[in-house]
Amino acid sequence: MSQLLQNAQENLNANGFLDLEVDPTLDLIQEIEKLKKEKNAIILAHYYQESEIQDIADYIGDSLGLAQQAANTDADIIVFAGVHFMAETAKMLNPSKKVLLPDLKAGCSLADSCPAPIFAKFKEKHPDHVVVSYINCTADLKTLTDVCCTSTNAKAIIDSIPEDKPIIFAPDKNLGAYLNKVTGRDMILWNGSCMVHEIFSQEKIVKLKERHPDALLIAHPECEAHLLDMADHVGSTSSLLRFTAESTAKEFIVATEVGIIHQMEKANPEKTFIPAPPNNTCACNECPHMKRNTMEKLYLCMKHELPEIHLQEKQIVEGRKCIDRMLEVSAKAGF
Ligand code: SF4
Repeated sequence: MSQLLQNAQENLNANGFLDLEVDPTLDLIQEIEKLKKEKNAIILAHYYQESEIQDIADYIGDSLGLAQQAANTDADIIVFAGVHFMAETAKMLNPSKKVLLPDLKAGCSLADSCPAPIFAKFKEKHPDHVVVSYINCTADLKTLTDVCCTSTNAKAIIDSIPEDKPIIFAPDKNLGAYLNKVTGRDMILWNGSCMVHEIFSQEKIVKLKERHPDALLIAHPECEAHLLDMADHVGSTSSLLRFTAESTAKEFIVATEVGIIHQMEKANPEKTFIPAPPNNTCACNECPHMKRNTMEKLYLCMKHELPEIHLQEKQIVEGRKCIDRMLEVSAKAGF
């Protein structure tokens, strides 16, 4: 092993990725395709990844689709182009397989907003409650959860719980409030949120709608209630994508992470997609965690099979139950 590689491995946890130079003349697309074949590896990418990564992925999807793919793959190596909790979920579903994440520091503000030890104390105060957690949570939180959900199947999951059973919903208060509204439940909500979906400016969107009167506003349910109330369609990233393809409208204002617009434009080249503006001048509707993954990091991670996701036995055994339950209810509900 070269000294440079050894140093990069020693600094892996501090950096989050293998900090090695990549030859700028390399054709990364070709190299990654070659590594996929050589290693029988599959790349699963979230819609919020940069477009080059989406284009080289074997499967692109939202959290539910990615979990389903991870559960059914026969690849030897799963390379997760997404954030940490997603790669953890893939590892829980495939404990004997190697799961790689190009950058271990690709975290999630929403998952971080619900630390498992604090949640455990909160849960103790409500012992008769069923815990439903959005899949955007840590492996430790999953061990405290009865059933997981994604934004695609959340309503079906909540509806599957008997009406007389009280529920705690974690960690996203915005998705939880939206679900309370559409299901008529009165779930206790954990006070967490996503930094990307909370940043949209209602005032700027109103002005944008004045300039584009025919544009439809589409929003992810992680957005705040006042924004969801103005939306023409609310749904998961897959649902937003489907809606833009099926709708006869020609213009859309998209209130979710901007990465999804790549697939919307590919599927509907004749339509216009306008990212909903954040309440400041920065590119805050880009998830900084998702965007930590780059083509270079993806290539290095596949070449050296690092960084790899490792979980404790308890996280796999206990954490997996709520994901299995979710996949079971989801399948019954036709997702
Ligand atoms: S967009 Fe929000 S919920 Fe999704 S990974 Fe980024 S911080 Fe987490």
